[in-house]
Amino acid sequence: MVDLQSQYQKIKPEIDKTVTEVISSAAFINGPEVKKFQSELETYLDVKNVIPCANGTDALQIAMMGLGLKPGDEVITVDFTFAATVEVIALLQLTPVLIDVDKDTFNMDIEALKKAITPKTKAIVPVHLFGQCANMEEILKVAQEHDLFVIEDTAQAIGANYTFSNGSVKKAGTIGNVGTTSFFPSKNLGCYGDGGAIFTNDDDLAYKIRGIVNHGMYKRYYHDVVGVNSRLDNIQAAVLRVKLPHLDDYCDARRKAAEYYNQGFSVTDKISTPKTSNFTSHVFHQYTLRLKDTDRNALHQHLLDKGIPNAIYYPVPLHSQKAYADERYNEDDFKVTNELIETVISLPMHTELEKEQQDLIINTILEFIK
Ligand SMILES: *Cc1c(COP(=O)(O)O)cnc(C)c1O
Repeated sequence: MVDLQSQYQKIKPEIDKTVTEVISSAAFINGPEVKKFQSELETYLDVKNVIPCANGTDALQIAMMGLGLKPGDEVITVDFTFAATVEVIALLQLTPVLIDVDKDTFNMDIEALKKAITPKTKAIVPVHLFGQCANMEEILKVAQEHDLFVIEDTAQAIGANYTFSNGSVKKAGTIGNVGTTSFFPSKNLGCYGDGGAIFTNDDDLAYKIRGIVNHGMYKRYYHDVVGVNSRLDNIQAAVLRVKLPHLDDYCDARRKAAEYYNQGFSVTDKISTPKTSNFTSHVFHQYTLRLKDTDRNALHQHLLDKGIPNAIYYPVPLHSQKAYADERYNEDDFKVTNELIETVISLPMHTELEKEQQDLIINTILEFIK
């Protein structure tokens, strides 16, 4: 699905040099590369505070701890996402409230959001799924009206731009109270191991979070709050410093590849290609099709048999997962997700896709569905 090796070959001299330097310096934890990366990412995102941490799941958990959410507080998120989002809500003994998504963008459905609010609701977690932003302007309106926190799960959309109706533009993850991301190798800005970060313009929240990631310490060996141990290591930060200046080019390469797929599939009405909302750019973490009148599972297997990577993101709605099932849920409230899990298929998407590879993928699919 991704070709990290070819991408590495293009930046190999810089990566090898910086990684070797970190190893020679033996500054593996809390080293200077982490501070430099933090400040470079703050500049790129135009956000006051970036707090690096160990992975994108921790980032979500720590953001919720920082906001002081308490057991029993309801946190609304989407049914159609990677499990990490709901996992941390449950882990903190908050009450996850899963809602349906929009059919065209796969992102949070605003009507479903409004319906899900109760007096116990404390936060909303929109996920910028597959690389485009959820409808943040509407989400912020709902949040303001009900005094709720907004935590943006930006693991799949770092680098995406959100344009408000007044024309102002912000980076995904810097719009709500706090944003989180993942530097997992296959993410759009991936390191060579695990990594993550939290973004916020709220200096008080940033202060709290900097303590939480470090065992709840604000002064060495004085533990004011219960914290965790969640660090981005110096080698990963060094890798990310090499890759960050390429992020916009990486996003462009993904967009170009998506356009090429779109053209290829425009000849059939059995395939619905990704739709982008007018308020967001799309950075195509995934390129995901919706199929009509086609046996999706048979296509999935056919492509695998032909040696063409493809994946089903996601095969099971969260509300049907054993860990998160709840009798409060009503199938009628998840019509879109229930349909998507049967009809979506994601194709190879990365920065090094060649047209010949895409032609083979497109032709194999068109041949199968005709
Ligand atoms: C990848 C991902 C995460 C978790 O990130 P990790 O670094 O793997 O912990 C969280 N949310 C979404 C939507 C993701 O895609």
